[in-house]
Amino acid sequence: MIEHAEHSHPEECCGLLVGKIQDDRIAAIEVYPMANHWNQDTARDFEAAMIAPTPETLPTTERRYTIDPRAMLDVQKLARDRGLAIIGIYHSHPEHPAIPSEYDRKFAWAEYVYPIVSVRRGHLSEVRAWMLDDDRQFYELELRDELR
Ligand SMILES: [Zn+2]
Repeated sequence: MIEHAEHSHPEECCGLLVGKIQDDRIAAIEVYPMANHWNQDTARDFEAAMIAPTPETLPTTERRYTIDPRAMLDVQKLARDRGLAIIGIYHSHPEHPAIPSEYDRKFAWAEYVYPIVSVRRGHLSEVRAWMLDDDRQFYELELRDELR
């Protein structure tokens, strides 16, 4: 995730986490870097879905990401074949803190973990992970690297 975020800087990167849920722990086992599918067409669609009117200048991949749903389905199948599932979607915030934006909140799914990698001047600043509560507000998760 960190490498992907640093290499993609100053654009936002995104990817999928595959793993499993064990009791109250969510274990990420594999990382699938994905292409940032954001473009002028997706920008128009997503911005129109926000409550605010579509801005004259549409945001670019420096401020937004989206994953091609067909590519996501491919990963979902790969995961399911091995008894795993997509458990999260990560993305980076170039030159911004690892705190979800209103856009992130609006388009988040309740069942996924959302790690955000903050990158400043091409280097890791911090990683924080978030999940929606029942009121669709993000709360922060405790991250543990058990490979270390
Ligand atoms: Zn974001």
